[in-house]
Amino acid sequence: MLNKSTDSDGEAGAGDMKQSWGGVRDRLRQSIGENNFATWIEPLELIGLEDGIARFAAPTTFIGDWVSRNYAEAIRREFARIGVEVDRVDFSVSRRRPAAATAAPARPIQSPARGHDLPGAPLDPRFTFDSFVVGKPNELAHAAACRVGEGADVSFNPLFLYGGVGLGKTHLMHAIAWQLQREGPALRVLYLSAEQFMYRFVQALREKKIMSFKELFRSVDVLMVDDVQFISGKDSTQDEFFHTFNALVDQNKQIVISADRAPGEIKDLEDRIKSRLQCGLVVDLHPTDYELRLGILQQKAEAQMQGNDGVVIASGVLEFLAHRISTNVRVLEGALTRLFAFASLVGREITLDLAQDCLADILRASDRSVTIEEIQRKVSEHFNIRLSDMIGPKRMRTIARPRQIAMYLSKELTARSLPEIGRRFGGRDHTTIMHGVRKVEELRASDPQIAEDLDLLRRLLSS
Ligand code: ADP
Ligand code: MG
Repeated sequence: MLNKSTDSDGEAGAGDMKQSWGGVRDRLRQSIGENNFATWIEPLELIGLEDGIARFAAPTTFIGDWVSRNYAEAIRREFARIGVEVDRVDFSVSRRRPAAATAAPARPIQSPARGHDLPGAPLDPRFTFDSFVVGKPNELAHAAACRVGEGADVSFNPLFLYGGVGLGKTHLMHAIAWQLQREGPALRVLYLSAEQFMYRFVQALREKKIMSFKELFRSVDVLMVDDVQFISGKDSTQDEFFHTFNALVDQNKQIVISADRAPGEIKDLEDRIKSRLQCGLVVDLHPTDYELRLGILQQKAEAQMQGNDGVVIASGVLEFLAHRISTNVRVLEGALTRLFAFASLVGREITLDLAQDCLADILRASDRSVTIEEIQRKVSEHFNIRLSDMIGPKRMRTIARPRQIAMYLSKELTARSLPEIGRRFGGRDHTTIMHGVRKVEELRASDPQIAEDLDLLRRLLSS
C-alpha cells in the first residue's frame, strides 16, 4: 500500500525506502552514539515515506514519544543529506510487532521540544503546581516540592515523598520537573519510575553498555525516581541505584524520590539505602480529608464543565461524593469523569440520584472501607458512652440516641442490609434498625445539633 504509485514524484518504493532508511540509520548511529542508537532508533520501523512524511512504527508509546521529542529533527536532517525531503516525522504504536508496510498506526504522538537527550519518562502536562489542590493532608509535601521546584539551592537531599495510592506523589514530581524545566531549560532533569530505572539498567547490562548507563545517570542535575519501593528485593538494581544516588549527592545534585511507604518500612531494601533515603527530608502525603476531597472535586468539576458544554451539576452532589468516596484521588476523578460523560450523553443534570445510580459500584467499593464496628466506636467516643452500650440493652435516651445515630450511619455509609446491621447491634430486629434510621432522619431535619453531629461523624469516618 505504500508503493501503490511508486512512479509519481515524492514517493518511494518499498525498496528505495528501505535503502534510504538504511543510510539514515548509519548516519544516526554515528551522530547520536551507539547507546542512544540502540535504545531509540534501532527499534523503529519505517512504514511509510511519502508526501514529505516519514512514518515510523515504534514498539511502545514511550519509545515513540521519546524519539519524537528528541530525534525527529536529526532524522529529518539525515534524510535531507541523502536528498529525501522530509517535512514531518510521525510515530505510531502498534501493540503487535509491526509487520513492515502492513502495520496500522494505532496512535499518533506529538513532538514537543525538549532540550536534552535523557531517557526519562514523559511528563503529564496536567500534573503541574497550578492544578494541585493543597489541603492539610498534603500541605507539607506540597511546600517541600515547591521549594525543590524553585531550584535555588539544594536544601534537603533527597526529598522523599511517600503516601498511599492516588494521593498525588506522581503529580507533585511531575510538577517539580515541569517547573524546573521551565525556569531552567538547560537543566538536565531526569524523571523516571524505579521500574524504568531497573529496565534500563538490566538492558545496559545485557548489552554491555553499563559504562554509558553510569555516565548518563551521573550527568543529570536533578534525578527523580518514582515508586522506589519497586526496587526492593532486586539486589543488583538496588546496588546500582545506591551508587548513582551517592554520586549525585556528592556532586550536590538534587534527588527526589517517591514511594508508597516510609523508607524504613520498605521491605527487602538494604539498610544502607534506607538510611541514605532518610538523610534528606522525608514527608508523607496523608490520606485526603473531606475538605481536600471537596476542593479537588470542585476544581476538577470546573475543568469538566469546560469540556462538557451545558452539563449542570446540582448542589450537594460534590459534597456527597467527597463524603462517600474514599481517599484515593484517582477514584474521585474517575467518578467525576464518568458522571460528566453520562450526563452529557443523556443530556441530564447531574443530580444526587443520577450520581447514586451511575456510581453504584464505586460507592459500594468505597463503603467497604468503613465498618459498622468503626462507626460504633467513633459514635460512642463522640457521645462519650461505652462501646459496649452500643450493643447492650440500655434504653435511656443518652445511650439510645447515639445508638440510633450509629444505626443510621451504618445504613448510610455501609452496604449492609438492615438485618445484618441488626445483628451487629446486639442481635436487634431489622424493624428496630429501621425505626432508628427513620428517627434520626427526622431529627436531622428538625434538630440542627444532630445535623451537625452527623456531619462531623460522617467526616471523621470518611477520612
Ligand atoms: P500517586 O502517584 O500518589 O499514586 P498521583 O499523583 O498519580 O498519585 O495522583 C492520582 C490522580 O489524582 C492524578 O490524576 C492527580 O492529578 C490527582 N491528584 C492527586 N492529588 C491531587 C491534588 N491535591 N490536587 C489535584 N489533583 C490531585
Ligand atoms: Mg504514582
